[in-house]
Amino acid sequence: MTSATYIGRFAPSPTGPLHFGSLVCALASFLDARHQAGRWLVRIEDIDPPREISGATTTILRQLSDHGLTWDGELLYQSTRTEAYREAIAALQSAHLAYSCDCPRQRINSLGGIYDGYCRQRTVIENPAIRLQVPSESKAREPEATIKFDDLIMGHYMQNLCSEIGDFIIQRRDQLFSYQLAVVVDDRFQNISHIIRGADLIDSTPRQIFLQECLESLSGKHPAPTGSPLTSSPLTYGHLPMAINAEGQKLSKQNHAAALVAGKESQNLWLALQWLGQQPPDQLKNESISRILDWAISNWSLNAIPKQLAMPAPSHY
Ligand code: GLU
Repeated sequence: MTSATYIGRFAPSPTGPLHFGSLVCALASFLDARHQAGRWLVRIEDIDPPREISGATTTILRQLSDHGLTWDGELLYQSTRTEAYREAIAALQSAHLAYSCDCPRQRINSLGGIYDGYCRQRTVIENPAIRLQVPSESKAREPEATIKFDDLIMGHYMQNLCSEIGDFIIQRRDQLFSYQLAVVVDDRFQNISHIIRGADLIDSTPRQIFLQECLESLSGKHPAPTGSPLTSSPLTYGHLPMAINAEGQKLSKQNHAAALVAGKESQNLWLALQWLGQQPPDQLKNESISRILDWAISNWSLNAIPKQLAMPAPSHY
């Protein structure tokens, strides 16, 4: 891997300030990129206005800068990308890889959350959501619906899209684009090669790999996704343990995770490195952020990260 081909990213949603869990994701993706002399991009995932908190983007960008996490190039705001999302959906629909659906939530709940494809054959549907069709089991002995990848941290991961997920939403009935769609369209657009993020998203990864393959097939770069077993991805993934609170919940705005405190950047970085298994020396604790980051870039080891889906955050940060 050379600096020309490694492109990593941190992709926060502006739903609140960074907390310890989001710092760990930003820091790990930054260090992995810098350790390999790669580029590191920041993308603001502002496609869900009802969930956004005004001023959160400014706060997040300031917190990143205060911690010395300097990104390359321009920021990308997903709110500027609606045309690209619309085009991707139109192309998927014309290729019959996606279809309109107006099934009410109660119906989907009654199916246990895994959609049964009821709307696949229906034609005129008003105010629809759009679903991506996953490969069905019946078509294959070697289940095409099984997506496998080797995670840099968690190891081998597999998921059967047909039995575990079902046809999934890429555009909601309120017309908002889904996270799965926007993230895949933009990771392709930005030529991302490496995704280092929290393990809360590991079960989204097979959907994203499948959607990438669908889009690749439309651009003629890859055989049709239903024509061959899907086993590989052009992207490399590493999922970090998820930072949880004393009650075992993921740190988030909803459960009042404390925002990072301005003025404690060196301690925050040291704690995050320690949490990531990097064993920073004690004397580094009171050094400048640039000395801490220099040490961390040189000594970065993905292998040292605990292979656990969740780990308690430090009680004070
Ligand atoms: N925007 C997502 C979040 O803040 C992360 C997206 C990603 O890393 O794929 O949870």
